[in-house]
Parts: sequence; structure tokens; C-alpha cells
Amino acid sequence: MSERQPLIAANWKMHKTVAEAEAFLGDFLPRIDDDIAAEVLICPPFLALRVAAEHCLRSRVRVAAQNMHFEADGAFTGEVSAQMLREAGVDAVLLGHSERRRYFGETDEALALKVPAALNARLQPILCVGEAGDERDRGETETVLRRQLEADLAEVPDSELPEVVVAYEPIWAIGTGRTATPDQAEEAIDHLRQLVTTRDPEAGERIRIIYGGSVSAENAAELLGREGIDGALVGGASLDQASFADIVMAAS
Ligand code: PEP
Repeated sequence: MSERQPLIAANWKMHKTVAEAEAFLGDFLPRIDDDIAAEVLICPPFLALRVAAEHCLRSRVRVAAQNMHFEADGAFTGEVSAQMLREAGVDAVLLGHSERRRYFGETDEALALKVPAALNARLQPILCVGEAGDERDRGETETVLRRQLEADLAEVPDSELPEVVVAYEPIWAIGTGRTATPDQAEEAIDHLRQLVTTRDPEAGERIRIIYGGSVSAENAAELLGREGIDGALVGGASLDQASFADIVMAAS
């Protein structure tokens, strides 16, 4: 049995105003038992971070941002730094989500700077990696995962690798309703863990690797029941408090 604590994270993407975030949390937090096994993260849009952090203060739920810049400050219009997120009460940050890679030009070079910048600011990085559907069809899944993981974690010291969470998010499964099978998810996650183990065996044992891609209240228990899958990053199904609460309870 793994010693790793399950992590269930809600990626709200560009959904929910401040008022909607407050309404969600007002309903969601009482649904979560105090003794749940899983760690729970909510990732709202930037403007709702502070109010979400205030709501979650006396709960087991923590708050994460969906992106950050690697510099502490500077002439970077439209960007937000790790220090600014910490001041808003944020504990973690999603990095390298495929929508940021695809629509906003997020590169592995930038991620190699962002991951250590987050760690230095005591923000837990949740690094997203995953292959596109055509890459899987061509048998390139392991090559893509290796390229992303090695590049994005290149500047993280081995001793800090266990502080990172890796989210295996096959792009073909995100927002499509087409979930990876538990076997597919576990196989890719095993490969990622092996890559970390090759760098540092202790880190390979301790690092949490979660799955994301059309996780729902219906399929969560089957995915989360797998020994190798340390949790879930949930998009669409996290927008409804009852369905997200069901997913959290499935990990407990
Ligand atoms: C995501 O955006 O990280 C995600 C997993 O989305 P969905 O659950 O909607 O596929």
C-alpha cells in the first residue's frame, strides 16, 4: 500500500466569478468530512483566489492558481508572480496545463524556470504533462512524456522532487468525455514514476503522480482504486459541488 496521500484537484479554468466561487465553496465545504483521506485543492481563476483562500482557511481544502510567471516582478504585462500568489493565500499552482501549452505558447523552457520558482516561493507545483491523440496513435506516448518531464524538472534538485506533483493528462482525454482506461492511465504513470526513480529512487517512491482527463463521479472510484494513481485533476466535473464532492469521497 502506497504511503502517498491522494490529491484531488479542481481545475475551474476560466469558470466562476467571485460570487460564484463563494457560492460553490459555501455549499461544497460542508459536504467534505473532516477525516477525508485525500488532500483537496481548488484552482479558481486569479480574481477568485483570495476569496477562495479565505473561505478555505478553516477547512481541509487548499487553493491553487492555474498559472504564474517565473520572475518575482518586472515588466511582464498581464502576468502574476509566485510571491503575489502567496500573498493572496495560495498554496499551489498548476503549471504546463495543455491548454496553456496549446493556446498561450507555454514552453518546456519556461516551465523549467517556473517549477523551481514555485518551489522557492513555497508554492507546490502541479506539473501537467501528456501526449496528444495522434502522438499516442503513433506510439510516441512514452517519448513525449520523457521529453516533457525531463525538460520541465531539469532545474529541480533531486531532494525537492517529492514536493512536485505530476499530473498525467492525455490531451485527447481532456474535456472530451473520453477517459483513459485505468490500464492506460496506470501504464503512463508507471513510466513517469520510473523516469523520476532513475534520477532519484527515493523521489520516485515519494512523488505523487495523478491522472486528469474526463474524470467524473461515475468513473473516479475505478481510476482512484488503482495503486499507481495518486489522485485526480478534475476539470468539467469539478464545476458542480455535488459531483466534485463525490469524486473527493471516492478517494477516501
Ligand atoms: C483539465 O482541464 O485538467 C481536465 C482534466 O479537464 P476535464 O476533467 O474536463 O477533462
